Amino acid sequence: MKIIMLGAPGAGKGTQAKKIAAKYQIPHISTGDIFRANIKNGTELGKKAKTYMDQGLLVPDELVCDLVVDRVQQADCEKGYILDGFPRTIPQAESLDKALAALGESVDYAVNVEVPDENIVKRMGGRRACVGCGATYHMEFAPTKKEGICDTCGAELILRDDDKPETVQKRLGVYHDQTQPLIEYYHKKGILRDVDGTMDMEEVFQAIVKILGA
Ligand code: ADP
Ligand code: AMP
Repeated sequence: MKIIMLGAPGAGKGTQAKKIAAKYQIPHISTGDIFRANIKNGTELGKKAKTYMDQGLLVPDELVCDLVVDRVQQADCEKGYILDGFPRTIPQAESLDKALAALGESVDYAVNVEVPDENIVKRMGGRRACVGCGATYHMEFAPTKKEGICDTCGAELILRDDDKPETVQKRLGVYHDQTQPLIEYYHKKGILRDVDGTMDMEEVFQAIVKILGA
């Protein structure tokens, strides 16, 4: 099963993608996580990506597309995968479709997690990320047992630079301009499935499972 998660930054794509990956035993591929790992490791890709990410802008398509197309052809993707944060532009979607078509494959579902902008601001402002393992929490909606400390690895939690209020507004604007058109793109293909992302995490998950099948 090949799944794409659509939705504004902070809509809960990563939260749901992790749960879906665990349930269906498929890899969770987050381009944001890949870039953050590259930044942490000081790679050339990381250095290039950081300049865009810090400003709330999208990393150029040419730095993203080949990376994803290579990743989905790795052995662990044989039974499918869930893409989180990709595609984010129409050219990215076209590039994925083209690469999959050449393999005789196509995306099965584009799950669109719908959350209004007002809720997004609260979700991103309260999001905390672990500097060690990258796990994501929320100060109010998904708190850790011990404040500021990751439940999984014990490392410190931070507010991502791009979750600071000034950048959040910028990212929302970029989402509406460049990413939202993908909703129509996948609707036309007949694979778009909308989910109300304002429900609590478990309810959103159940709604997605209903779409994908048990
Ligand atoms: P995205 O991957 O779309 O950027 P995340 O999955 O990181 O979004 O979620 C953004 C923040 O909102 C996180 O702090 C997460 O814990 C929280 N969150 C995710 N889903 C929900 C939900 N259904 N209700 C409340 N908070 C949520
Ligand atoms: P995310 O973790 O998905 O919120 O992504 C964090 C940041 O990484 C985004 O704001 C972009 O700057 C960059 N990024 C992640 N995925 C993509 C993509 N598919 N295309 C362009 N930029 C991306």
